[in-house]
Amino acid sequence: MPIGSLDRRALLFGATSLALLARPVLAQVAANGPFTQGVASGDPAADGFVIWTRLAPDPLAADGLGGLPGPADVRWTVYADDALTQAVAKGVATTSPDSAHTVHIEVGGLKPDRFYWYRFDALGAQSPVGRARTMPLETAQPKALKLVYASCSHYEMGYFSAYRHMATENPDFVMFLGDYIYEYSEKNASKIVRRHEQMPDVRTLAQFRNRYALYRTDKDLQALHAATSALITWDDHEVQNDYGGFLSEYMDDDVNMPAIRAAAYQAFYEMMPLRRTSRLIGSGMQIYKGYRFGRLAEINMLDGRQYRSAAACPNGQARKGHVVTDACTVRTDPARSMLGFPQEHWLYDRFARTQARWNLVGQDLLVAAFKQQGKDMAGNAITGHWTDAWDGYPATRDRLLAAMQHSRLRNPVMLGGDIHSYWATELKPDFDDPKSPVVATEFVGTSITSDPGPVEPVRAMLPENPHVKYYNGGTHGYVCVDVTPDRLEARFRAISDRRDPNATISTEKAFAVENGVARVNML
Ligand code: FE
Ligand code: CA
Repeated sequence: MPIGSLDRRALLFGATSLALLARPVLAQVAANGPFTQGVASGDPAADGFVIWTRLAPDPLAADGLGGLPGPADVRWTVYADDALTQAVAKGVATTSPDSAHTVHIEVGGLKPDRFYWYRFDALGAQSPVGRARTMPLETAQPKALKLVYASCSHYEMGYFSAYRHMATENPDFVMFLGDYIYEYSEKNASKIVRRHEQMPDVRTLAQFRNRYALYRTDKDLQALHAATSALITWDDHEVQNDYGGFLSEYMDDDVNMPAIRAAAYQAFYEMMPLRRTSRLIGSGMQIYKGYRFGRLAEINMLDGRQYRSAAACPNGQARKGHVVTDACTVRTDPARSMLGFPQEHWLYDRFARTQARWNLVGQDLLVAAFKQQGKDMAGNAITGHWTDAWDGYPATRDRLLAAMQHSRLRNPVMLGGDIHSYWATELKPDFDDPKSPVVATEFVGTSITSDPGPVEPVRAMLPENPHVKYYNGGTHGYVCVDVTPDRLEARFRAISDRRDPNATISTEKAFAVENGVARVNML
């Protein structure tokens, strides 16, 4: 893109504010430099992407504004080469305390299907160099796509070695599938590997900003964001454990859930490389979105939290996830939705229109049904279904699978997280019928660091759930996916020890899905 396309309004406004503010701000920022949060890119299109940074010389300043005394100008440059000799786009933006001095630049006019490099300049300092990637043209026929995806990174539970190793996989794109931050502080001291501020759940805008700010001081997470562009959705812990819509996990809770959610959503937008179309408008934020990697793959990113119907059959004073039996008939009510009907219709319409060989869905939860053991309110052992994931909204799952069948969707593969364990499953319209056809395959990644639930009760129920082809709840890591026209390979990549900042990486298990056959094949 010619340099003349930079944002003139931002430049003119920036020039004025720079003259007024640059000197006093500079003196106060000198100690740490402003780029303590690294850089990031995301929301890729065929002609560009978002590049992101934040000016935060004191990233954990109590007011949530990063220690910057006032607005400052940020110059940005995108380069065609890693030696940073060929600038192809540049501009100037001015930060604002209204967005915690974050910078979101939507870069356009670039060439499809390639990497670019970028850097920011502000207050006499230079940011680290980031790398970003454009999508191929929608009509292109790419030969390969490599993705890595992550979920569930509790800062206190371990080091982010998995993020470091994801960066070195050299993926085309990284997907974040939820629980990027956790809103709570761990109470069990023996589990804490490194502390963050110990407080009751994060609830205010300043607190959410500072929780993200802490995560973004982590060098392994910074390395991953600098490596390539991200596709991003969220799960519950970006707001509150097991929340749904505007409802808290607690029924007798006096917290102002709409206010907490608005603060959480605003901080999420500020700290993620998202486009303005995803910003908080009123009380909502549209983050579900479809991407096309040429004719090879379509990637639909879902929002499983914002629009969901109230949880089925709350347990006493809590809506949070628990096991219910078939006596809870609300669970199967087709008038309920986990995605909300507008998002469902949008997704099924994408299924009807896609021309891609592979149709991937990135979302936050386990899709497969899983019969499991639990306790009822009286403490009696029961067998039933978990209310917080897709099992709590089986009618939505039925409609999803029916839409895949109806549109003869080619090679649907669901990618998920949340459950802090590895799963490979085969999705069927009727999980109880051995003759029911496999419509889609599913690969769920374990946590980056977060604690798994008890493993043995899940293992004990695997014979009751024959569509689950693999389960392991004892390791931490991510999933690496290689897509070619003929097959998709998913490798479960596990770190050696979440308590070791230098943990190594290895493949725990690998799977393939062959073109045209929805089935999990072990490699
Ligand atoms: Fe989690
Ligand atoms: Ca979760």
